[in-house]
Amino acid sequence: MPAKDLDQIVNLCKRRGYVFPSAEIYGGFRSTYDYGPLGAMMLRNVKDAWVRSVVQQRDDVVLIDAAILAPPAVFEASGHLANFTDPLVDCTVCKHRFRADQLDQRDCPLKDYAKCSFTEARAFNLMFKTHAGPVADEAAECYLRPETAQGMFTNFANVLQATRKKPPFGIAQVGKSFRNEITPGNFIFRTREFEQMELEYFVPPAEAERWYEYWIAERLRWYVELGIPESMLRVRAHAPDELSHYSAGTSDLEFAFPWGWGELEGIANRTNYDLTQHARHSGERLDYFDQATGERYVPYVIEPAAGATRAMMAFLLAAYDEDIVAGETRVVLHLHPRLAPYKVAVLPLSKKEPLTALAKQLYRRLADRYMCDYDDTQSIGRRYRRQDEIGTPLCVTVDFDSLEDEAVTIRDRDTTDQVRVPIEELVEQVSARLGW
Ligand code: ATP
Repeated sequence: MPAKDLDQIVNLCKRRGYVFPSAEIYGGFRSTYDYGPLGAMMLRNVKDAWVRSVVQQRDDVVLIDAAILAPPAVFEASGHLANFTDPLVDCTVCKHRFRADQLDQRDCPLKDYAKCSFTEARAFNLMFKTHAGPVADEAAECYLRPETAQGMFTNFANVLQATRKKPPFGIAQVGKSFRNEITPGNFIFRTREFEQMELEYFVPPAEAERWYEYWIAERLRWYVELGIPESMLRVRAHAPDELSHYSAGTSDLEFAFPWGWGELEGIANRTNYDLTQHARHSGERLDYFDQATGERYVPYVIEPAAGATRAMMAFLLAAYDEDIVAGETRVVLHLHPRLAPYKVAVLPLSKKEPLTALAKQLYRRLADRYMCDYDDTQSIGRRYRRQDEIGTPLCVTVDFDSLEDEAVTIRDRDTTDQVRVPIEELVEQVSARLGW
């Protein structure tokens, strides 16, 4: 059973070092989180799994890494300065500010929502503004990007020229984005600093609808392959009055969070809006000349835009389980091996030589290929529980017999089955079980 209660995951994350509240020693900073030793590795694995699927396993997508700071001109052209707003209302009773389209009783500091009295909604721009350089005047104003997408549009001509790609082709990017959310919350679901994984896939206009459908299916497959049950996912097409001004169609991939369905990723047909806007504002040509047909056109763009931090939360929730092993309840994270922070834990039965020398040697052999843990504290049963709870797929136990028979035990997290394998075959056996 996946986690039903958000607190199960929040507590596990804190206890085991996945996610910590930021600046906790100073009382916390509600809108951001820090990724601990396990969380930092898992978040990296989520992003790597995305790059593997969207860039590495294809021949039509390239990766870039654009700057987080950007001048106002970019967001003037993209429409963010005018339109990237949420409706804000003030409550004259509890003095709290709410997002008018997502009024949530849990946000009321007095917990007395019925008495709240709201002002008229006004547009609140979600971008963080700062200054570049030593003089904080208007000319130095710049913004932290609220999405990674604009870096792909402003570099469209650079990438085209450098790579000689032709539509259909994509530019992908993974990185931090910042939004001054009115009501951050639900753990790492909505934070003011977060990470995104976005693809801008440029296509001939006539093919846009087909690629839009293709990317919805493709992205859904990615979550399922990495372990989220299909029953916890759904595709929700936006109603016409819900569509962004640039969109000819948007579908959200939603996940069954403990409080209900929530967006994991949006897939939009953004038409030629972005390239047209940036061409108009910059005076640069942002189109494609097809030598085969002699036609010049502005490509349409299909954008699958996912949150890396939000996806990590969904993977954790879906992987969480409590079962009974040897009469005791155990907590286990059934994380896909690609996402698990550690792939293998090497556990010597005793802290004494010569067992530890052999265990260390095997650890080094495995760590050359995989992120591994080494643990020689406490009883073996407790060490298995600990690895189960942090989602390590395999444990390799080195015991006194290992010194004689040159074999070790591999224990599987999900089945708890144990098999004895010759040390000589260990790396191969681990590789066969992990799947790479
Ligand atoms: P929402 O309606 O929830 O505010 P959105 O539709 O504005 O989200 P997009 O602009 O489509 O979100 O962003 C793409 C993805 O980036 C989202 O599906 C989500 O996974 C992630 N994301 C957006 N805002 C946040 C945030 N504040 N914290 C964490 N992840 C976010």
